[in-house]
Amino acid sequence: MTNDEISRQTALVVDDDRTMRALMQKSLNSSGIDVLLAENGEEAFDLIRSHPIDIVMLDVELPDTNGFTLCRKIRQYPATEAVPIIMVTAREDSQAIDAAYQAGATDYFAKPINWAILGKRVMLVLGSSRVSADLRRSQSHNQAILNAVPDTLITLSSKEQIIEYRPAPEDRLMPDAEYVGRRSLTQLLPPRLLEKVRSALSEARASGRSVQREFDFSSPSRRVHYELRLAAIESGDYVALLRNITERRQGEEKMRQLAYFDSLTKLPNRQYFHSHFAELLREATLHHQRVACMFVDLDNFKRINDTLGHDAGDTLLKEVANRLTGAVRTTPRDIDRGSDMLSRLGGDEFTILLNDVGDQGNAHVVANRILDLLRKPIDLGEQCVVVTPSIGISFYPEHGESIDELIKAADSAMYKSKELGRNNFQVFDPQMNSDSKQRLLVENRLRDCLDKNSESLFLVYQPQFNPNNRQVVAAEALIRWIDDVLGFVSPADFIPIAEETGLILPLGDFVLRQAIAQISKWQALDFDIPVSVNVSAVQFEQPDIVDRIRNLLFEYRVKPELLTLELTERVIMTDVTKTVEKLMHLKQLGVSISVDDFGTGYSSLAYLKRFPLDELKIDRTFIANIDSDEDDLSIVDAIMAIAKRLKLTIVAEGVESESQLKILQSRDCDLIQGYLLSRPIPSAELTDLLTRQFSRQLKVVSRQSRVLD
Ligand code: C2E
Ligand code: MG
Ligand code: MG
Repeated sequence: MTNDEISRQTALVVDDDRTMRALMQKSLNSSGIDVLLAENGEEAFDLIRSHPIDIVMLDVELPDTNGFTLCRKIRQYPATEAVPIIMVTAREDSQAIDAAYQAGATDYFAKPINWAILGKRVMLVLGSSRVSADLRRSQSHNQAILNAVPDTLITLSSKEQIIEYRPAPEDRLMPDAEYVGRRSLTQLLPPRLLEKVRSALSEARASGRSVQREFDFSSPSRRVHYELRLAAIESGDYVALLRNITERRQGEEKMRQLAYFDSLTKLPNRQYFHSHFAELLREATLHHQRVACMFVDLDNFKRINDTLGHDAGDTLLKEVANRLTGAVRTTPRDIDRGSDMLSRLGGDEFTILLNDVGDQGNAHVVANRILDLLRKPIDLGEQCVVVTPSIGISFYPEHGESIDELIKAADSAMYKSKELGRNNFQVFDPQMNSDSKQRLLVENRLRDCLDKNSESLFLVYQPQFNPNNRQVVAAEALIRWIDDVLGFVSPADFIPIAEETGLILPLGDFVLRQAIAQISKWQALDFDIPVSVNVSAVQFEQPDIVDRIRNLLFEYRVKPELLTLELTERVIMTDVTKTVEKLMHLKQLGVSISVDDFGTGYSSLAYLKRFPLDELKIDRTFIANIDSDEDDLSIVDAIMAIAKRLKLTIVAEGVESESQLKILQSRDCDLIQGYLLSRPIPSAELTDLLTRQFSRQLKVVSRQSRVLD
């Protein structure tokens, strides 16, 4: 299609007079307008339906209809509703002209027609019709845009009268347009919003520029956020576009929550911790301040989680988070640039950053507060548990300049506090760095020895004596490790590492097998002495622990009553229901159960009766001073009284002096274990001891029988 063709227009001429039609056609053609001819209304409409028409020249008198009626019909027809219609009338009376306009005509030409200028006049009408069509189009375009804009539009006079108001369709805080009418801004906006808009308006007026602002305020039900854009129009009038961005803000807040907060505890997460830490360090460097970084790790959390289930674990973590929040006194909401921050790095690891702590002692105060807050049992529905923390603290600038160094330092300090028996806090000391290297070395060596089934790992046996006749009645198997690289390593040092790293499982298996094999050897020699084996928590939690023991006893043909398992209070107390069930199975098997290190854990004595126990071992720390410390003696007396009532065998651990032995003897203690009577010794030595004891007994028996004879 050429430009000419595109721009060519088509006129429909409707006239019953043939001459008129021909003259019109000629005149219009000469002005470059195409012409379609119709004799009457019916023909005219056929053409309208089948051709695009740009203008209609309509005679008033038609054979089949009246020109005014046809004009109305054309206007109602969608394709021609906006097409210019020129009525051609012989009557130049005002009535006819009024009737033409009422029928929707655009203009009228009176006969006789001035043929010389007809084409030009038609072109003029077509031109102005195009302009108004463009205008209509642009108006509806603008309207469509405005309808799509989610803003409230307010046109304001310089006196804050509302000239135009179009509320955002979705914004329920904005009154309806009908209601507003031509009021002032004061009547339209809620006071908090009004205040902000006014301040933006005065800024816009003062600067002569457009202004964009965001603000938020509380509506009766929630916090709302708005974005305001102000643009000057003319003579002091302004257009204000107000957009309610509450949902967007909430979405952003949600994203922020997801990115920076832990979903379980709602505390800041690792990312947030890092970025906040970086900021604190920048400030601290600038203003020469001290920052404390604290690592708080829950002792034995994994065990609680595994035994009580994840729901209980979650509840516990939430409660711990609450309590820690109390210790720091900053809620996640108020964290701003320079404040303290509590965060959860994951699992049971929490961190606390103390900004500008001043004296190191202030961090100690916080750590003590945490220890205090966690002392109270946590209610998990079915049962209450006490979860203790191990806390490590590092300080900027003393222990490092970078986040990494400070984290590492706090982590090492935290490990140290675990090593020192948990439930305490430690401040980093450079020595700890070499400690953690040493820990890693121990782990690697131990793994190596276990893999190779090396002879550097073996058992020794510490005899347990009857305090009255000092005869060996039983023994405790204790692991020993003399490593090729590390030399002698005390179980007090490597057992905790084995527990942390899971190596305790192969190690525990090794100990059980060795001990049971040894019992079987003594059994073969007719030395039926029971041997106690220490069982660590992780080992006891293995679901198949009872089966393993049953299989070993069977494999070595050992009488089950010759095996005693030593469990610490902590192991027993973690999941009472499960423990009771397991212990029942072990009892059915015929194995005895002993509570090791009794008195150092948290078990209430009242709980003891719920478990099928056989023996209590009073911890060495109580025995050490029974001959000098009244309190220790009364504790030992109390333990003994309860144990007697529960018909448990009592073993006193760590007996080192005759005076201790005497006291224990006077209290009817069943068994004595300690350096006074024997250190842990190799199995061969214990065999000798038993042999000598046995032959002595035989002698006594034969002497007695001789006397009797
Ligand atoms: P435990 O089960 O309470 O063992 C008693 C510890 O006290 C042994 O230390 C023993 O040598 C020591 N001891 C005995 N009499 C005296 C005394 O009169 N004075 C002093 N000062 N100490 C005495 P050991 O062998 O170093 O073991 C330390 C801990 O390591 C054990 O405490 C036990 O908890 C753990 N352990 C040792 N062997 C094993 C094992 O095979 N498996 C597991 N899971 N833990 C073990
Ligand atoms: Mg023991
Ligand atoms: Mg013990």
